[in-house]
Amino acid sequence: NTIFTQIPATLIPGDGIGPEVVEATVQILDALGSPFSWEVQQAGMAGVNSCGDPLPAATLASIRKNKLALKGPLTTPIGEGFRSSNVRLREEFQLYANVRPALTIVPGRYENIDLVLVRENIGGFYVAHEYYIPVGDDPRAVAVSTGVNTRDACKRIARFAFEYAVKNGRKKITVVHKANILKALTGIFLEAAREVAREYENQVQMNDMIVDACAMQLVLNPWQFDMLLCTNLFGDILSDQLAGLVGGLGMAPGANVGDDTAIFEAVHGSAPDIAGKGIANPISLMLASGLMLEHVGRHDLAQRLRTAITETLNKDHIRTGDLKGTASTRQFADSIVRRLETI
Ligand code: NAD
Repeated sequence: NTIFTQIPATLIPGDGIGPEVVEATVQILDALGSPFSWEVQQAGMAGVNSCGDPLPAATLASIRKNKLALKGPLTTPIGEGFRSSNVRLREEFQLYANVRPALTIVPGRYENIDLVLVRENIGGFYVAHEYYIPVGDDPRAVAVSTGVNTRDACKRIARFAFEYAVKNGRKKITVVHKANILKALTGIFLEAAREVAREYENQVQMNDMIVDACAMQLVLNPWQFDMLLCTNLFGDILSDQLAGLVGGLGMAPGANVGDDTAIFEAVHGSAPDIAGKGIANPISLMLASGLMLEHVGRHDLAQRLRTAITETLNKDHIRTGDLKGTASTRQFADSIVRRLETI
């Protein structure tokens, strides 16, 4: 008999639909008997509203201590205003790898999708070194943005992707770039990936594709891909596309992983258009909590969780509105709890 100890973890409800999907996820984690003991902390607009800071010191201290967090989406003002708390968290804890699996659970437009996207999570255009150049009486006549990729960071994310492939039985990695135009910024990424790929020659194949062609191929024939390795911006865009292949943003989990800390979240944002209505699909965050269970070695619980989600969707036919169902977030979570009792 193994005795499992409690694992302290930071829980950030977040903004918009965040608190709704977090509540649903915690409910099923409790029903599952998960090992996590939660420390609730605020960030994003909720942080601004509660203590005037989108990334309060107490939240950072809690993550620094626990090295593990489950996070609802955080709202970032568009154009002006404070810098994204998500981006700051990734930088602060050096969460250099963003892992975004896409798996068909509800057959829809596409069937049998089983892809994993690994996105470089700190560099590229997300360093957002941006400024304006005034011309005449227009102070913002010209906008300039600089992207930064270091060879070390490119090799680090490439090695992460190849190691992930080996550990998870993946056979092929497609490196996504725009090295024909952004010859330096994405050329170095491709070069580093090719260098690392040589170390895994006998285990994992590598090919590469220009991002625009990859976007089209993902629509025409997504089954040709196994894993995608992307720079920060391209990975952000293509992972939403992957979500679209498996039923939308309600079905897409993500893990932000560094050498010692990991933060799990849904790929989607705070969905202000449906916030507060109790209709959000909580599956993305539930699947993210499954990745978190695997991260701490509880593959057994992660598997039960995925089975309960699959059976609720496909045997009980209980689905939220984005999947053409009529269930509320709460009704969906209650159904999963009932399913868990049978598994
Ligand atoms: P979004 O992902 O919040 O919403 C896009 C569309 O998808 C909306 O129509 C929304 O209703 C729908 N949707 C998203 N998640 C859903 C769910 N679980 N169930 C049902 N429908 C769902 O993207 P957006 O509107 O571009 O961004 C809103 C805010 O979220 C912005 O402030 C953005 O910066 C932030 N954001 C945060 C994160 C994060 O915290 N990781 C990620 C993306 C966007």
